Amino acid sequence: PEQHQAPESAPAPGTAVVDGDRPLVEINGVNKWYGDLHVLNDINLTIRKGEVVVILGPSGSGKSTLCRTINRLETIDEGEILIDGVPLPEEGKQLAALRAEVGMVFQSFNLFAHKSIKDNVTLGPMKVQKKSRKDAEDEAMKLLDRVGIANQAEKMPAQLSGGQQQRVAIARSLAMRPKVMLFDEPTSALDPEMVNEVLDVITTLAKEGMTMVVVTHEMGFAHRAADRVIFMSDGEIVEEATPEEFFNNPKSDRARDFLGKIL
Ligand code: ADP
Ligand code: MG
Repeated sequence: PEQHQAPESAPAPGTAVVDGDRPLVEINGVNKWYGDLHVLNDINLTIRKGEVVVILGPSGSGKSTLCRTINRLETIDEGEILIDGVPLPEEGKQLAALRAEVGMVFQSFNLFAHKSIKDNVTLGPMKVQKKSRKDAEDEAMKLLDRVGIANQAEKMPAQLSGGQQQRVAIARSLAMRPKVMLFDEPTSALDPEMVNEVLDVITTLAKEGMTMVVVTHEMGFAHRAADRVIFMSDGEIVEEATPEEFFNNPKSDRARDFLGKIL
């Protein structure tokens, strides 16, 4: 295996330098069971710096479980996962530090309901990264501006639309300066008219060089934004292809069946 430098903090958003060869996430021989259910079946996947990997697959195929193992929200039974060359620790302070390098945005926005938008964004940097309130707030306002919500900073989450809340959730993740962002169906809970405002933010991040994994059912977005499409079914990676290959010429019956149902 290659040698990696000690983890440095991620570059400020918008200044990422694409360093095409460096593996940021390495998933090697990962297996996981829920009782008898083999939910992750020999998963091998390397995600390189600046890459946009879109995971597609039917409901129940293990997409969320895979995402959740990447920041150790779920344990694995076999195999290993490395973030920028460092194995995911079991628990404790190292886990908190490594987890900060892997931002995650869920279908449900998961904002702190009793904190203002600004406080939602400053909390992690102040608590986990021990930033001063001033620094955390300056950074939060820049991030909220980037996702188009700066004028809502003093409001509470319930006062915002779903699309706005999801953009705050993205800003909150970015505030930790993650090396990788995981998006698990980030637009599935949104009214249709709000889907694009969230996909646009994700697309801009991708263009700026953010390394990301996106689970989505938005096929137009997958086609446009993905460097690579991973198709999962029954806990396995069944296909791995460019979006052109995958959408125009799926190789497996399972992928053809999936595309036939949704396109
Ligand atoms: P996807 O995100 O592709 O829809 P999931 O990763 O959520 O799939 O789920 C994969 C399979 O694992 C499903 O059959 C689901 O019911 C099962 N599963 C998910 N979480 C748990 C859990 N905590 N305990 C038992 N089974 C689970
Ligand atoms: Mg899921």
